[in-house]
Amino acid sequence: MKVTFASDNTAGASESVFQAMMDAAQGDAMPYGNDEVTAEVTEMLSALFECDLDVFMVSTGTAANVLSLGAMTPSWGSVLCHSESHILNDECSAPEFYTGGARLIGIDGQDAKIDPIKLKALTYHKIGDVHSCQPSAVSLSQVTEVGSVYSLEELRAITDIAKEAGLPVHMDGARFANALVALGCTPAEMTWKAGIDILSFGATKNGTMAAEAIVVFNKSLSKDLAFRRKRGGHLHSKMRLLSSQMKAYLTDDLWRKNAEQANSMMALLQDGLATIPGVKINTPAQANMVFCTFPKGMTEHLTEQDFTFYGGRWGEGVVRLVTSFRTPKEGVEAFIHSAKAFVEKT
Ligand SMILES: *Cc1c(COP(=O)(O)O)cnc(C)c1O
Repeated sequence: MKVTFASDNTAGASESVFQAMMDAAQGDAMPYGNDEVTAEVTEMLSALFECDLDVFMVSTGTAANVLSLGAMTPSWGSVLCHSESHILNDECSAPEFYTGGARLIGIDGQDAKIDPIKLKALTYHKIGDVHSCQPSAVSLSQVTEVGSVYSLEELRAITDIAKEAGLPVHMDGARFANALVALGCTPAEMTWKAGIDILSFGATKNGTMAAEAIVVFNKSLSKDLAFRRKRGGHLHSKMRLLSSQMKAYLTDDLWRKNAEQANSMMALLQDGLATIPGVKINTPAQANMVFCTFPKGMTEHLTEQDFTFYGGRWGEGVVRLVTSFRTPKEGVEAFIHSAKAFVEKT
């Protein structure tokens, strides 16, 4: 059996998402977001987050992140983020491009969470000094890049520091649903009630084809986002095809159900890994991703058995395993079985 733990974007899309696109493809609708489905999505998100908000649909997570940062940061500003963050490492300097040259400053912190003490020091670094790039925004990832999840208190610790310094806070929620299910709180509690100004509400990894929503809670930041999106080439003329995906994603709790499946498969995987001698869990998974270190030869063995996952870039034996809404239980069991067999043989 071929099973992949490479990423959650190896999975396709949920049936109802495609069905919704098929339905939206019938008949005519006004272009560029002036259609009924797009309006409905804004209403649905407003109900979900229990507040008035603005929504800008885009088709990639990178676009959602960098347009959000563009709305928060002048070109001479800096964005404070974790040194392992996606915006800093995996977006090909799109943040710099879309902000017109703002600098990303990586801050360390355990489990890929920004260390509040280090953040505080940088927040006030050379404020008002015309020779220095000005701290302008904070961006954090929920789920983080190593699969940990900020608690509500940890979020508050970051946003309180940012607010005190007058900086808006962006949340990269590429795995928002996975984090939410892990914390068991409400969407409002994990965002605007915790001091988040703009959220990249990811959906692609968890069931849509290509649909992400920039959700703006602090509406004073929405002013120029529509222009930025168009100028950046991300205003889809057939917006309803994107919005229909998001509508299906938000209908009947699909987004929660998908995230619950992904997270529970990770819990099963992690429990299994913990029973295998020689396997070290580097960061305990709280959502649907785990980093661990395999004993020598295990990666090769599992790869030969047709399991795929990423390794080889984080140090000797370190691998990343990610589950998705499509990860089958039998696949997880087969993986654990095969890993155990390897250890017993050696
Ligand atoms: C996947 C991901 C994104 C979005 O990536 P795209 O490929 O541009 O959709 C953003 N942030 C994090 C943390 C991610 O894992």
